[in-house]
Amino acid sequence: MMKRNLLLTPGPTQIPPEICAALGRPIIHHRTPQFQDNLRGAIEGLQYVFQTNNDIYVLTCSGTGAMEAAVSNLLSPGDKALTVEGGKFGERWTELCRSYGVKTEVLEVVWGKAVQANEIKKRLNANEDIKAVFITQCETSTGVTTDVEAVARVVRDTRAILVVDAISSLGVTDLKTDRWGVDVVVSASHKGLVLPPGLAFISVNEKTLQRIAQSKNARYYFDLRKAKEALEDMDTPFTPAIGIVIALNESLRRIKAQGLENLLTHYARLAQATRQAALALGLSLFPDESAMSNVLTAISLPVGIDGGEIVKIMRDTYGISIAGGQDSLKGKIIRIAHMGCLDEYDILTGISCLEKVLTQLGHQFTCGVGVAAAQKTFNT
Ligand SMILES: *Cc1c(COP(=O)(O)O)cnc(C)c1O
Repeated sequence: MMKRNLLLTPGPTQIPPEICAALGRPIIHHRTPQFQDNLRGAIEGLQYVFQTNNDIYVLTCSGTGAMEAAVSNLLSPGDKALTVEGGKFGERWTELCRSYGVKTEVLEVVWGKAVQANEIKKRLNANEDIKAVFITQCETSTGVTTDVEAVARVVRDTRAILVVDAISSLGVTDLKTDRWGVDVVVSASHKGLVLPPGLAFISVNEKTLQRIAQSKNARYYFDLRKAKEALEDMDTPFTPAIGIVIALNESLRRIKAQGLENLLTHYARLAQATRQAALALGLSLFPDESAMSNVLTAISLPVGIDGGEIVKIMRDTYGISIAGGQDSLKGKIIRIAHMGCLDEYDILTGISCLEKVLTQLGHQFTCGVGVAAAQKTFNT
């Protein structure tokens, strides 16, 4: 019998019991003042977490739907965009742009490293026709964080719109949308906001709204002009995922009560403990030291130890889910997420289980050193 189902995965994430309870309530109709109250509360809560006064549209889809909405609403076929590829999710921006006939200038970054703002500046200077820059705040496939503030400083004074994929990082890593001058931010329900998948969000500023009005791309379900019009009446253009919006309102209330600052500190602690544990186990960390994310820790494995095997045994034997590597990193890294409804003991449980499985697979270390290193971080 499965004893537990602990999600240490970078989406979906562990959902707190009170949110599960909210998800279990009987459904209400969405064209009602009761639903409007929930939508209003949810949008105000999102503005708190996005740190913005901009419009935020709630879309019914996974995170990629909001990424697609950003591309199809901002650009016209033949326009040029700059994408940054340092992992799977950066590549997704390029693929989306190409699907919509957008020409892409691709800035390739070695997986595990962060893009430097001055590299973006160089590309913008060399291509004055770039209309949008697409970056990823936390590249979930590698555990790398981008310095969004530095990139925003570079893009702010150009014609280009800066679009940030904050799907895994929202509510986990600081993102000062308005203060830093980020034009568009996309996120989703099933990562830091501790909900099931089903909702995505996109915040847009004035500069972006003007661009949306000019775009000649085909769009229907993700037409943000429709979303804007509906929002003026606290409504959505189509049937929203009613139950998740209600739970979102609840989740954001919980986040507000905890305080965003405190949450960011909490995740930083979980990340720090996990990193220390990995090092104590004689493993190395995959991302560059200067770019390590607090969203998740990507750990490199010694040759001969298969990451896929670790993920499988932890899940099937012990009920603890972590993630493996993707593409060229398949089998070579494991990824342990920190976001979601997790506390110190969930991380200690995960590390303890990792020790057990590493021993089983023949990795040499003194049993308990990983847990001890994490404990030490938590006790300081
Ligand atoms: C999870 C994630 C996405 C979106 O994936 P969906 O499966 O569409 O929700 C996009 N970008 C990043 C960085 C992510 O972590």
